Amino acid sequence: MPLSIADQNKLDAFWSYCVKHQYFNIGYPESADFDYTMLERFLRFSINNCGDWAEYCNYLLNSFEFEKEVMEYFAGLFNIPFEDSWGYVTNGGTESNMFGCYLGRELFPEGTLYYSKDTHYSVAKIVKLLRIKSQLVESQFCGEMDYDDLERKISASGERHPIIFANIGTTVRGAIDDIAEIQRRIAGLGIARKDYYLHADAALSGMILPFVDEPQPFTFADGIDSIGVSGHKMIGSPIPCGIVVAKKSNVDRISVEIDYISAHDKTITGSRNGHTPLMMWAAMRSHTNAEWRRRIQHSLNMARYAVDRFKAAGIDVLCHKNSITVVFPKPAEWVWKKHCLATSGDVAHLITTAHHLDSSQIDALIDDVISDLNQRAA
Ligand SMILES: *Cc1c(COP(=O)(O)O)cnc(C)c1O
Repeated sequence: MPLSIADQNKLDAFWSYCVKHQYFNIGYPESADFDYTMLERFLRFSINNCGDWAEYCNYLLNSFEFEKEVMEYFAGLFNIPFEDSWGYVTNGGTESNMFGCYLGRELFPEGTLYYSKDTHYSVAKIVKLLRIKSQLVESQFCGEMDYDDLERKISASGERHPIIFANIGTTVRGAIDDIAEIQRRIAGLGIARKDYYLHADAALSGMILPFVDEPQPFTFADGIDSIGVSGHKMIGSPIPCGIVVAKKSNVDRISVEIDYISAHDKTITGSRNGHTPLMMWAAMRSHTNAEWRRRIQHSLNMARYAVDRFKAAGIDVLCHKNSITVVFPKPAEWVWKKHCLATSGDVAHLITTAHHLDSSQIDALIDDVISDLNQRAA
């Protein structure tokens, strides 16, 4: 049955709304400069990637071949031999983090998960769902974990198998926890490398750091056990998605054989999106490394530009190395509402995602922040 005229009009109106606002976003990390039109024709198929892309599945409409190549790409970016890794395309950074925490908990069922106050809000939920013992660690003002507090808390609780949730780019301040420092502190407590688990939440920065000249440590070569990144943030995707990469040896411990799909089930959901792996694949295949580097450098330059403008106006501003998140004092409600900014406590941020080709939206926002401050001073 075709749609009624009224319903057709409703869709048309929503289409116009989306076209009008497609580049609105300056407060959140979602990029809008993607083009997956080559994939539109696949929307007519019920593609489903349930199970493991590495195995045969008799649900024929799967995009496993593409998912495998996506995973091969990310294993390369995150410095782990592909054959030693396993991961999949998730529904987003949250599921990626949940998978990492799940592996940590299966390895150390009695272990305590340590996460800093600046950690994304979803981790509190993950901890509840997985019933992991957890401890909140203080953050430094810059947004990094307070390593003294981490050490103190592990030591005071006598935990022999800490599960560490490290932020590679916090949501609000874009801060990157120092993996090497975390490892030094844990080693200092006499805990061997095989006795703890280290997950890296790299929702936004996981797709920035591989393409900068001086990345902070964040890969398997630096000592992580798993990493999550969002597909709809730096890369860009019309459907939220993410990627998680872990060590195959740890994943094999959670694998369950399912006769119904004649495959192994390792993933958190059963049916899985088969379209988003196609999107991630298309994103990888349509950008050379040099293009990612250029795109990311442009965003970093825009962040620099915003920092300089705030400084020139005498406004406090924070932006970490290799970060596109620019933090400033929370402006009046009319400013953050008008620009759809995310605020947290007494700060707000703008994120110079790649669809900001020039500085016009950044300028419009900073002009409003300045005029708000002038009004308040008057
Ligand atoms: C956005 C974000 C998440 C959650 O990712 P989703 O893709 O929205 O589920 C987790 N951690 C950090 C640091 C984030 O910025």
